Amino acid sequence: MLDYRSAMSGKMPIPLLDLRAQYATIRDEIRFALDRVLESQRFILGPEVEFLESEVAAYCGCAYGIGVSSGTDALLATLMALDIGPGDEVITPAYNFFAAAGTIARLGAKPVFADIDRNTYNIDPAGIEARVSNRTRAIIPVHLFGQMSEMNPILDIAHRHNLVVLEDAAQAIGAELEGQRAGSVGHAGCLSFFPSKNLGGFGDGGMVVTNNVDIAERVRLLRSHGFRNKYENELLGGNFRLDEIQASVLRVKLKYLDAWTEGRRRNASLYREALRKCAWIELPHELPNSRHIYNQFIIRTGRRDDLISHLREERIGCEIYYPVPLHRQACFKDLGYKTGDLPSSESACSESLALPIYPELTPDMLRRVSSVILAA
Ligand SMILES: *Cc1c(COP(=O)(O)O)cnc(C)c1O
Repeated sequence: MLDYRSAMSGKMPIPLLDLRAQYATIRDEIRFALDRVLESQRFILGPEVEFLESEVAAYCGCAYGIGVSSGTDALLATLMALDIGPGDEVITPAYNFFAAAGTIARLGAKPVFADIDRNTYNIDPAGIEARVSNRTRAIIPVHLFGQMSEMNPILDIAHRHNLVVLEDAAQAIGAELEGQRAGSVGHAGCLSFFPSKNLGGFGDGGMVVTNNVDIAERVRLLRSHGFRNKYENELLGGNFRLDEIQASVLRVKLKYLDAWTEGRRRNASLYREALRKCAWIELPHELPNSRHIYNQFIIRTGRRDDLISHLREERIGCEIYYPVPLHRQACFKDLGYKTGDLPSSESACSESLALPIYPELTPDMLRRVSSVILAA
C-alpha cells in the first residue's frame, strides 16, 4: 500500500534493476534450497551443479552444460578448449561488454573487431568476411541486450573458412531465432549468471552449453585444472568451477525464467505503445522470427545528455551500455584502430541508453517512465 501510494506521488525512485523485488517473490524457496546445501556441507561440484547443468542445457536446446565460475570464464575455458592462442585471430564485434575481446587477448590471440548492425547492435555479418585472414580461427558473435545475432550468414562464412562459432549468450538465455535457442546454434554458447542477467545468481557464475562432445569434455577437464583423475593433469586448465550454493539458487530461479522473460517482453510492448509517437527517440528493433528476451531495453537519441539529466531529476534509473567501443579501449591501443574505423559501434556508444525493463515493474511505473521521457 505504502509503495503503491509513493509510486503515485511522482518522485518514487524507479531503479534500472530491482533485485529485491524479485527476491521478495521467491524468498522461502531460495532459503529452503540454500538450507539443503548448508546441511549437506558439500560446496564444490555436487548434485546441485549436476542438476543445473542438465536443466540449463535442456533449456538452451543443448546436449551438454558445464557450470563454470563466470560468463567470462565460460568464454576463456571454451577458447582454451579450442586451443586458441598466440598467432590466432578471433573476429568479434566492437560494441559490447569487454569479456569476449578480453579473453581472446588474454590467451595471446588477437581480437579482430567488426562493426555492428546499427539496428540490432549485434555484429553485422556483412563486415565479417573482409576480416577473415589465414590466421582467423573463430568468430564470437555477442547476442547483445537479449536478441540473437543473425546466425545464418555467420555460420555460412564460418563454414566456408572452417572457423569455429562461439556464441556469447551472456545476455541472451532463452532468446530464439527461427526457433533455435541462443547457445545451441554455434559450436558452443557461453552464459553468465551475474546477478543482473535474466538468470542471475547470488554472486558470479556461468555455463558453457554445447552439442559438441569434444568441446564439452575439454571444458569439463579445464575447469578443474585439467584433472582427468585426481592429480593426473591431462590439460593445462584452471579453477573455473561453479559452486553448489550458486547452483541451488539458480535452479530455483530457472523455474521462473520464462514467466520473467514474458514480463520483460510485456514491459517492452508497453514502452513501445507509450513512446511510439516520440519522434526523437528510436525504439529497439526486433528481427522477424526472433524472441528478444530484453536483458536491456535500449533506446537511442541524439539528445541523450538532456534525457539522462531529466531522468535523474525524476529519480529514474538509466545507464549507458557501452560508452566506449572496444577498439578504442586503452588496453587495445596497440591494435592500431582509430576513431571512425567502426562507425556504427561508435554512434551506438554515443546515442544508446538503457531504461528500466525488469519484470516486477508495474504498469504505473512504466507509465511514469514514459511520461517523464515524453516531457523531456
Ligand atoms: C555479463 C557479460 C559477460 C560476462 O559475464 P560475467 O559472468 O560477468 O563474467 C560476457 N559477455 C556479455 C555480453 C555480458 O553481458
